[in-house]
Amino acid sequence: MLLLDGKEVSKSIYQYIKDSKITRRLKLVVILVGDKEDSKVYVNMKQRKCQEYDIDVDVINYEKDTSKETIINAIKQYNNDSSVNGLMVQLPLPPYLQEYTREILDNIEPKKDVDGLTSNNMGKICLNHENTFYQCTPLGIIELLNYYNIQIEGSDVVIVGKSQIVGLPLSIMLSNLDATVSLCHIKTKDLKSYTQKADILIVCCGVPKLITTEHIKEGVTIIDVGINVIGQTSTGKRKICGDVDFEGVKDKVGAITPVPGGVGPMTICMLIKQILNC
Ligand code: NAD
Repeated sequence: MLLLDGKEVSKSIYQYIKDSKITRRLKLVVILVGDKEDSKVYVNMKQRKCQEYDIDVDVINYEKDTSKETIINAIKQYNNDSSVNGLMVQLPLPPYLQEYTREILDNIEPKKDVDGLTSNNMGKICLNHENTFYQCTPLGIIELLNYYNIQIEGSDVVIVGKSQIVGLPLSIMLSNLDATVSLCHIKTKDLKSYTQKADILIVCCGVPKLITTEHIKEGVTIIDVGINVIGQTSTGKRKICGDVDFEGVKDKVGAITPVPGGVGPMTICMLIKQILNC
């Protein structure tokens, strides 16, 4: 079994970034609404990584009851600020703003949309337009597969989960690379009948250990995107697991990502890479 090590792959990409010696000043603005603990953790991680690569980061933290109009006005101001290269809104937004997520994201200037979430950039991905920003997690998954020379063209790929930040854009990106893609979700009838045929199985549904040995064929490549908190260790650290029963499947797969240390490190790495393309 080959372990698809996102830490290792991201290290080699970071080294490449260091070697390219970027001299321009770059700035990322992150809009964070509310005080959701894990969103704050993700924003801090992004901030630390950007600073390592001399990218300035301004985190604009709004109270959880901030109006949609205030957020959109701020976005418009950063769109017009030439010192800002990348602009992103940390998702998910608080519950009362969730129905406006699309409207809020679509106010981001597509040329600054380093998270690849505007309708404009998503449309370009559908049309296989090269000059665009991609969603960072799907982009990281493709980099990981390429790094380990896992054949995408002509492969049967099954994706479990069709969110707008992972499953849906990934299905289009892989289809653009000539994979045959099945996009499964909560309403899929007989999930196993799809997953058992996969050459590459990508699981991004947020259900701890949903995929077990009965779901897969021998030699499959599995990408486990799930990050599920399932308790605390004795030292108070969060215990997390993926959407795949790693211990149960590891002797049957050809290759698999660990959780943590698989897809997670690739996501931030792709964000840095896309900011450098601004
Ligand atoms: P989401 O929560 O927005 O949507 C879940 C999707 O999974 C939906 O399409 C739903 O239909 C499907 N689904 C749910 N239960 C299912 C089931 N029993 N069978 C089949 N399909 C089912 O998804 P998301 O925001 O993409 O997050 C998914 C997981 O990926 C979460 O655990 C999240 O923490 C993780 N995630 C990780 C990264 C990373 O960088 N590693 C990035 C984004 C999300």
